[in-house]
Amino acid sequence: MTEKGIRLGAHMSTSRGYHKVPMDSVRIGANTFQIFPHSPSMWKAKLPDEDLATEFKSEMKNTGISPEEVLVHSGYLINLASPKEDVREKSIRLLSLEMKIVKSLGIRNLTFHPGSHLGTGLDSGIDRIVEGLDIVISENEDIEVLLLLENVAAKGGHIGSRFEELKRIIDLSCYSRRLFITYDTCHGFDSGYDLSSKEKVEALLQDFDKKIGLQRLKMIHVNDSKYPLGAGKDRHARIGEGYIGRKGFRCFLSNSYVEKVPWILETPGDDKEHAEDIATIKEILGLSGEAG
Ligand SMILES: [Zn+2]
Ligand SMILES: [Zn+2]
Repeated sequence: MTEKGIRLGAHMSTSRGYHKVPMDSVRIGANTFQIFPHSPSMWKAKLPDEDLATEFKSEMKNTGISPEEVLVHSGYLINLASPKEDVREKSIRLLSLEMKIVKSLGIRNLTFHPGSHLGTGLDSGIDRIVEGLDIVISENEDIEVLLLLENVAAKGGHIGSRFEELKRIIDLSCYSRRLFITYDTCHGFDSGYDLSSKEKVEALLQDFDKKIGLQRLKMIHVNDSKYPLGAGKDRHARIGEGYIGRKGFRCFLSNSYVEKVPWILETPGDDKEHAEDIATIKEILGLSGEAG
């Protein structure tokens, strides 16, 4: 841990196996991470072999990374809001299996994009998301995995760019106690949530608290944005190289509430670039020393 006790990591490749991820994370100066539970652009997924899951959990212990503070990111094909019955059904099946994969790795948090109504309107889209979520969670009631709705960029009928939309999903679900939020800084910026001063960050968090409740903010995706405020493009940039910029991240990440939530980078590049972005964040915040 750094002196301020921040939790900071990046989206990591699982191509060498889940069990390699904890140590790979430590190597880039991280003390948390995010992974996919399967190839993110495929419908196919399976539970990890028991031996590998055991090895993964022991590597978590060896590196001191808390399973409560790492994140699994759901596959990109999942769309609970889809008006197409077959897509919706496949999405429910895959998300339910993903919860079991997350559980088998001993991880606590699974984040997903609420979905796109594909032009059929917000209300029916939200109804389908809630219905799908309630099926998925009812099938996994005994599993202590939390589902984190991620705020997305407002484009292509995607639901969840506004706090109000995320709140409606949480309120309508029978399982609101199992639903939390991942706040993505690039997607938020895309949707007009400004981080350019301490006052604006304060206002954003007050808005979040009023509409959703800050206790639901579980994870933060720390991404700069290649496009200006409100552009809705969803193009991530390296930290300090986009329109949020070093000042925006200083204002946001030094906030006393934000500081307590784990931060995950999804910036362009791999381990080398992520190590540099982690160093940049520490430098921006005036932190020295290694995480871990
Ligand atoms: Zn995402
Ligand atoms: Zn994200």
